[in-house]
Amino acid sequence: HKTLVWFRNDLRLDDNPALHFACQAGDVLPVFIFDTDTPDEYQLGGASRWWLQQSLTSLNQSLGHRLVIRAGSAKTLLAQLIDEFGCDQLVWNRGYEPWQMQRDRDIKAELSTTLRVKSFNGSLLWEPHTVLKRDGSPYRVFTPYFKKGCLNAPPPRQPIAQPETINCLALTQADSLDVDKLDLIDDIGWHHAIAEHWQPGEKGAHQRLDDFVAGPAERYKIARDVPSLEGTSFLSPHLHFGEISPNRVWYQLHDNFAGFDRADIASYLTELGWREFSYYLLYYFPTLPSENFNNRFDHFAWQQNATQLARWQRGQTGIPIVDAGMRQLWQTGYMHNRVRMITASFLVKNLLLDWRLGAQWFWDTLVDADLASNSASWQWVAGCGADAAPYFRIFNPVLQGEKFDTEGAYVKQYCPELAALPKKYLHQPWSAPAEVLQAANIELGRDYPEPLVDLKQSRQRALDAFAALKQLG
Ligand code: FAD
Repeated sequence: HKTLVWFRNDLRLDDNPALHFACQAGDVLPVFIFDTDTPDEYQLGGASRWWLQQSLTSLNQSLGHRLVIRAGSAKTLLAQLIDEFGCDQLVWNRGYEPWQMQRDRDIKAELSTTLRVKSFNGSLLWEPHTVLKRDGSPYRVFTPYFKKGCLNAPPPRQPIAQPETINCLALTQADSLDVDKLDLIDDIGWHHAIAEHWQPGEKGAHQRLDDFVAGPAERYKIARDVPSLEGTSFLSPHLHFGEISPNRVWYQLHDNFAGFDRADIASYLTELGWREFSYYLLYYFPTLPSENFNNRFDHFAWQQNATQLARWQRGQTGIPIVDAGMRQLWQTGYMHNRVRMITASFLVKNLLLDWRLGAQWFWDTLVDADLASNSASWQWVAGCGADAAPYFRIFNPVLQGEKFDTEGAYVKQYCPELAALPKKYLHQPWSAPAEVLQAANIELGRDYPEPLVDLKQSRQRALDAFAALKQLG
């Protein structure tokens, strides 16, 4: 057989079921298409475009420069390539974004009249259709979903080793575009700073996993909440682009720690469970990225304030832990999970700005921007999601800062202008006496912003807005 392997969010050779199937069947035509049919709102954000460029370069190298890269309509290009290379099979690993599922169904319906078209599960431990409540309906709450649904279902499949040989079809220069021709990154050069923090591609992904297993995994339960520590796995962009499979991660942890009994490892698996749950929600509730899961929030009185939004985006709110998080995001393409929750809560509750504005900014700036996890997490923080944090639970960024960044190391790293402030005032510089500010060489409004809102008043305003919503029914 000659099999066209359509790479999408599975940019790896290891544990790649579609590639494995193709290699067993004979010759392989590996293809990546930058699909210009993607609806506008789901086009990749800036940070993701940079990552994709790097990841494709790495995959192409692993395939001995035999990856066919094209830009255009996936549907048209696949048909053309099948024709040009005489392929008799087309395979891919499944995706779960609603527009993607529709596109894939269309392609399958159209092309399966002339060749064999087959898809596989390459990105999830449990695909959504395999986990349902007893009455056949989908779960809406995480704990029963994960504990009763997933953990009682058959265990995730064992990862498949990278094929020993991949017989790629010979290419001429005209068959593939150079990755640079995809024009994924602009000339401004903002990505150079981000590049220092990451190694996109399969090798980088495995390195991250090995590093995590060798140290931070044993302390994960507590260290995962401290933003100044490298206490998490940093696997999110690698998982998003499919440079490593969740099955590989799952079983490497299992084998290394002789099972999942250890609390730190169980806690990590629960986080992988949240990733699964996000995909699950997106699958069963395809409007998750754009509509309130709880439609009572359709009547919520969101404010419109472009200035406040811009100050949040740039890390200039005057609330140190919020600013540190937003600057980490801008500088590295990543933000610590605890701080994602704090910055998101501040936007939605203290500024009363629509969660979708925050989700859009994250979509553009995160290297791990993921439609399922981003949408589900924003709705969770906003209080309108499935199994969401109750709306009245409003994070106090000062207390959060003092609890999780006790020594202020994280704030000092991203807000160096505050570094000379005593610990006591680091998370609330506005409450420092004038002489303390003076001694630290800080004038609020000049060296560091005055707080954008009063935390107590804005909290009350949010509670009032929520109470009004409840009265509406
Ligand atoms: P680890 O702590 O090492 O966790 C391991 C893996 O579990 C992660 O790589 C990730 O795949 C998954 N995971 C962990 N926490 C979550 C979670 N709460 N929801 C879903 N999956 C999770 N994650 C994304 O991958 N893409 C996003 O676009 C995204 N947007 C978010 C937006 C907001 C407002 C919030 C609060 C969270 C968001 N998250 C998102 C979830 C989480 O913050 C990141 O997955 C995590 O910080 C990634 O770092 P890590 O790989 O070191 O995580």
